[in-house]
Amino acid sequence: MHGDGHIETVQRDVADLKDSFGRTVNNLRISVTDRCNFRCRYCMPEEGMQWMARSELLSFEELTRLSRIFASLGVKHIRLTGGEPLMRKDLHVLVKQISGVPGIQDIAMTTNGYFLAEQAADLVRAGLHRINISLDSLDPVKFTEMTRRDHFHRVWEGIEAVDRLGIRPIKLNVVLIRGMNEDEIPKFADLARSRSFVIRFIEFMPIGSDDGWSPEKVVTGKEIIVGMEKAVGKRLKPVEMRGAQPADRFVFEDGIGEIGLISSVSEPFCSHCNRVRLTSDGKLRTCLFSLVETDLKSLLRGNADDEAIRTAIVEAVWKKEEGHLINRPGFVRPARSMSQIGG
Ligand code: SAM
Ligand code: SF4
Repeated sequence: MHGDGHIETVQRDVADLKDSFGRTVNNLRISVTDRCNFRCRYCMPEEGMQWMARSELLSFEELTRLSRIFASLGVKHIRLTGGEPLMRKDLHVLVKQISGVPGIQDIAMTTNGYFLAEQAADLVRAGLHRINISLDSLDPVKFTEMTRRDHFHRVWEGIEAVDRLGIRPIKLNVVLIRGMNEDEIPKFADLARSRSFVIRFIEFMPIGSDDGWSPEKVVTGKEIIVGMEKAVGKRLKPVEMRGAQPADRFVFEDGIGEIGLISSVSEPFCSHCNRVRLTSDGKLRTCLFSLVETDLKSLLRGNADDEAIRTAIVEAVWKKEEGHLINRPGFVRPARSMSQIGG
């Protein structure tokens, strides 16, 4: 059936989801919806987004079944994302279902924060362990410019609500774009030092057809370190350089204030990548920048048994790309936007 001896060897070792470059996948990002109530400039166009029909989205039962299958293959960490994951009604029900899956050690979520004030308590009660909130600007006017929505204060209330629940760490995801918000590095430094938030800078990536990306607009991790140290007058010391984690972590030399750098463009972490993604319509992607997908929804809805789905996952992961080609001549942008893939 496989015509590939490697895959058959890997299949026998079901507790390990390995690719052909020796990496082990134990991390799954699930996009629960492609819909979003924001229109961040780097993620999607202002008008004309075509949402998937609701019947195309995997149901909570299908997502839980897949989580069980992935867990049987050694996946331990699940992150819910989107689109905006909290646009999916009753997401806490899914969190509860996945938290009951043996082998899943933690469930995290990346959100724009808009619905957090009202939903955070239910989500945490259901078993959500960690929350990342995207916050690209500390200036309400700039925030509106970047997200095309005037929701800074509401998002901030959401962050405060999560803080009151005592979840740690709370990570704030920031995308800096040259000419837009890179002048806020000092303000983010102050925030990292005055509150218990970890500020994580994600380099601006070329993804989707309408993101406005160009290499010059990428504010690199190195620039951010220099800007932060200058603003605070203290050195940033590495606490943990990424292994399988995408972020390099740094703390100011006096121990106050942590930041993370996800330098996917200037210093890709592909050789340590341990993650795969499931789109909201049930396609498995082995890289953010994949040009091929594996259709798990057809298997789920075509009455495939767990073993057949496991086989499809093992085969897809074996072919996981060595790395992305941003900055190299062969690079081709995936047609789907970040919100459709599940960032
Ligand atoms: N809607 C949620 C949110 O914004 O947090 C979750 C989905 S969003 C696609 C996940 C993360 O991807 C966000 O932190 C967002 O800033 C990031 N992102 C989106 N487009 C990006 C791009 N072109 N480059 C870098 N990060 C991007
Ligand atoms: Fe929506 Fe998140 Fe994309 Fe912003 S980054 S448009 S909040 S999916």
